Amino acid sequence: GSDSGSDGGETYTVATDNNFVPFEFLNEDTGKMEGFDMDLIRAIADEAGFQVDIESMKFDGVVTGMQSSRYDIGIAGMTITEEREKTIDFSDPYYDAGLILAVQADNEEIKSEADLAGKKVATRSGTTSETYLKDNHPDAEVVTFPGIVEAYMDLQAGRVDAVMYDVPNVKYYVNNDAKGELKTVGDVLQGEQYGIAFPKGSELVDDVNEALQTLIDNGKYDDIYEEWFGE
Ligand code: GLN
Repeated sequence: GSDSGSDGGETYTVATDNNFVPFEFLNEDTGKMEGFDMDLIRAIADEAGFQVDIESMKFDGVVTGMQSSRYDIGIAGMTITEEREKTIDFSDPYYDAGLILAVQADNEEIKSEADLAGKKVATRSGTTSETYLKDNHPDAEVVTFPGIVEAYMDLQAGRVDAVMYDVPNVKYYVNNDAKGELKTVGDVLQGEQYGIAFPKGSELVDDVNEALQTLIDNGKYDDIYEEWFGE
């Protein structure tokens, strides 16, 4: 069903990740997708005068869904990379992120990425963390899951030694679900920026960029940011 606050205008399909807190996740009570990205894309739709029909899926499904033009828009904490830009168009960047490691709270062995040789490191399939690990840590054993929660659960159960993933998601998980059980270690490993994704050649890119800029200028972006990342 249509999922925007405004009436009228075209309805565009929006592909999102089914679980990437606090950017997008299912509110079990309302049955609706919520989070920073969800508020942002609904505000952009209101501003630009279109409606959105949100469909959630595994992250790698969002990437392939853009490449095959199956959906009009993708918003999923998706990092803008040169590799993806060959097959996907992106909006202007809307969020600064990066990658970080998490380990069990009592782990004294892994203090940074320098300690990953011979270790089992879990992350999520098709993400920039998977690419980073394969490019920079050939001595680590990389284990990938379609959903990141499985990776965190393996870490909590001691089946893997570390998880590498996006800073805002790791911090959120470490401070909430896994409070006292997991901790982050080392520096932010790779600066990244998230962009809204489109099939290559989409005519929506300019309208979305314009609406995004309006929301930044009029303070609505800050309100949404504050709601999900404020104290
Ligand atoms: N930012 C990461 C990427 O683009 C992960 C995104 C996600 O899992 N939703 O690869």
